[in-house]
Amino acid sequence: MKNKIALEEHFAIDLTIDQSKIYSQPVVWERLKSNLLDIEQQRLERMDEGGTAFSILSLNSPGIQGIPNVKEAIDVSRRANDILAEHIARHPTKLGGFAALPMQDAEAAARELERCVKTLGFHGFMVNGFSQVGNPETVEYYDAPHFFDFWKNANALGKPFYLHPRDPLPSRAPIYDGFPWLTAATWAFTMETSTHALRLMSSGLFDRNPNLQMILGHLGECIPFNIWRIDNIVAKAPRGIPCKRALGDYFRENVHVTTSGNFRTPSLLSTMLEVSSDRILYAVDYLRSFLMELTAKTYRSLKSPVAVEARRPNRSRNNLALGEIALGLIR
Ligand code: MN
Repeated sequence: MKNKIALEEHFAIDLTIDQSKIYSQPVVWERLKSNLLDIEQQRLERMDEGGTAFSILSLNSPGIQGIPNVKEAIDVSRRANDILAEHIARHPTKLGGFAALPMQDAEAAARELERCVKTLGFHGFMVNGFSQVGNPETVEYYDAPHFFDFWKNANALGKPFYLHPRDPLPSRAPIYDGFPWLTAATWAFTMETSTHALRLMSSGLFDRNPNLQMILGHLGECIPFNIWRIDNIVAKAPRGIPCKRALGDYFRENVHVTTSGNFRTPSLLSTMLEVSSDRILYAVDYLRSFLMELTAKTYRSLKSPVAVEARRPNRSRNNLALGEIALGLIR
């Protein structure tokens, strides 16, 4: 399948690159580091090899969300977005951008998002989970009331946001004590991100902003597998849940999921049955170059009648459907 649009493809700048070091083995770090910092060399070659026509780039995680100093978060986000915009300007038919935002200051984040969309031409924004604010141990999730105006402004811009994983703070997640192999992408990313997504959905965010679209990676961070059970239990025991509809309604109308980093055909098929192929978008989760070939290979290897749906030419159009409506992408 050619001409794919990939939505979760990361880069780093000098001020954020070291955040990614803990997620790789020392022996491969130097290569990964150069891959993350590189935007225009081997990345474009890998895109061609994997049949990706257009990549929407986003800053590495936790990125801005891991900078407790508010002024620094604002400055670094602006710098990262400006650097990305310069690269996009040199390859406008190949590269697009999701804004990195200083969510530590909701008003500053709203201003930066507007600048990124209206001036830099970005396609939306990516947040890497909660933000550390003021000090490393103070965290904020985006369902809080002081983000209401931010979301209202984001909704008015008509662009989606990508809720991307980060690890929970060790001080708040003792369940991982002594089990470092369960942190990061093994399991902790998924639990942290799916819970944050469920917080946003159940808080009434999409009642207040019904056109807002959230993108989740990794085939929906386990939510498709559990959404029936979630709604079944909430219906029996609402416990003060403030949203107006079943969480599954928001999941099917306000959420898109991507294939990033979860290259398993049975999981893809299950996700397609739950949310429809129209809401599944292509993404690699670019960090290690081999993943791009692996994702493309997974798509080529799909054999079942349902899976054929994912390979039809209009799969690209599905990406473009969101693109044209919400992302404003190239054709
Ligand atoms: Mn990622």
